[in-house]
Amino acid sequence: MIVFLTHSRFCRRIGIATLACVFVLVAPIEADEPVRATRQMVVTANPWATEAGLKILRAGGNAVDAAIAIQLVLSMVEPQSSGIGGGAFMLFSPAPEALEDSAQIVAYQGRETAPALATPDMFLDQNGQTIEYQDSAIGGLSVGVPGVLRMLEQAHQENGRLPWPALFTSAIELAEKGFEISSRLYFLLSQYQRRAEAEYFTQHYYDHDGAPRKVGHLLVNHDYAETLRKLAKDGAEVMYSGSLAREIVAAVKGNSIRPGRLVLSDMESYVAQRLDPICTPYRQWRICGPQLPSSGGITVQQILGILQEFDIASLGSNLVEAIHVVSEASRLAYADRNLYLADDSFVDVPVSLLLSPAYLAERASLIKLGRAMSEPQPGSLGELTAWNFSPSVHSDWTSTSHFSVVDQWGAGVSMTTTIQMVFGSQLMVGGFILNNQLTDFSYQPERDGKPVANRVESGKRPLSSMSPTMVFDADGRLRVLIGSPGGTRIINYVTQALLGVLDWERNIQEAIDAPHFLAQTGSIELEDFTDLAQHQDALEALGHEVRTRALNSGLHGITIDYTATGRLLRGGADPRREGLAMGD
Ligand code: GLU
Repeated sequence: MIVFLTHSRFCRRIGIATLACVFVLVAPIEADEPVRATRQMVVTANPWATEAGLKILRAGGNAVDAAIAIQLVLSMVEPQSSGIGGGAFMLFSPAPEALEDSAQIVAYQGRETAPALATPDMFLDQNGQTIEYQDSAIGGLSVGVPGVLRMLEQAHQENGRLPWPALFTSAIELAEKGFEISSRLYFLLSQYQRRAEAEYFTQHYYDHDGAPRKVGHLLVNHDYAETLRKLAKDGAEVMYSGSLAREIVAAVKGNSIRPGRLVLSDMESYVAQRLDPICTPYRQWRICGPQLPSSGGITVQQILGILQEFDIASLGSNLVEAIHVVSEASRLAYADRNLYLADDSFVDVPVSLLLSPAYLAERASLIKLGRAMSEPQPGSLGELTAWNFSPSVHSDWTSTSHFSVVDQWGAGVSMTTTIQMVFGSQLMVGGFILNNQLTDFSYQPERDGKPVANRVESGKRPLSSMSPTMVFDADGRLRVLIGSPGGTRIINYVTQALLGVLDWERNIQEAIDAPHFLAQTGSIELEDFTDLAQHQDALEALGHEVRTRALNSGLHGITIDYTATGRLLRGGADPRREGLAMGD
């Protein structure tokens, strides 16, 4: 049922372009009821991944164990979005008893790093002009050191319950038996058909005549099974200094389209990080998100901090006013994001100032109810840098995947994971695709003589928008886990879903289903094929530029209510993708 619902909504958004969509349209089912459970729950972007995660929970694994099994499966069944060749941000909230016992909520980051030989001008041509996004995205140039496996291994060493090799079983089985190509994977392969330049990638996903493998084609991946066996046996080290590391370096450096600068010492020196998450209050809640180099934690919390000055709950009944206020708050927060935020191991970022209640109240005072501001300006917090320009924000078909897990002990994982653009660099090694995450850097290293905070530098991590989020109540109990794909729009999707649950009292599925409206620094975007278009004139009358477009989020969330007898978990999967919530 869920698959039909998912596909029918998805078809509308892609203009009913594929045969598969015609097939599923015979049974369109709309629903806004979340999946309920009382013990444990998994919500991911793909049914195979959800099943693999739940299997681990049923075998006595915890949320971190499940997250690893999920990622290993996603790498294969949703190769357009994430995989072991990419990077991720993850929040982990220990079980409530452990939290009482002073255990901490932690934020892990396994973001890709630029090679040591990377330079600020590496995305400029001989004339000093930025190269075209497509010319940099495919091939070796934009591959960063993959981080997700190191991160997961660290999270497992610190929190896991089941032995590491046990987490690989589902993925190995699936790689050997194969899985049926879904309509979304087929659709995206068909969009990238003309651009598919890498030989291994093309052979794996396309027929001899160059057509994408069809919906329902059983895709077997023996190379990936072999890779997984090595990783299960010898750990992530295989990826960072073993045979796999050498293969990755050879593929990147030896790429005939655009060779990259990765060397073995970049792989060997990679470290993931465990940090305190960024947490700030929002009304009676505490919102937690990832640290830099993701802008997700800071920017989501800046928007909410500004909105705290407005009665959002009652604004919800006047949709035009709600869209106006939320968009203005977003425009102000993105103005700060685009100027100040970058990897803070390289750049001073005024994080506490950006999140201070006084500063956010001052920003809120710039919002006028009856009139849009002409151009949102960043706050004056020390003008050391220039506006960030990353071309990947314009990409239409965003990739990335978010999943949420709650285990039987009440511990939770909220993890967003990506290989950056759809199908990453298209370079494949050992049955998986390598990222093109370096395209998240600013291609321009400086503007008007000032350095851009998010410029490329040796060993630096590119700025991300991934926003795995957790919400805690006044008693410190975990109440919401949520996140989304969507490039820089991730921040908007997550914020809107949080407003839905926290202010507009929607259940998690309703909050995810709700038609999207969003703004970054410029115009307001309304989700096409929804009722929102009727508000375009009223928003324009306030002075906004407005356009409608496909807004392909992939929100996957869980809410937790605590009852006298235990917990009620509700899970929601985004009908715009192929996700599935399951629980016990
Ligand atoms: N690479 C992006 C980021 O880290 C995500 C890409 C996407 O969602 O399409 O923010």
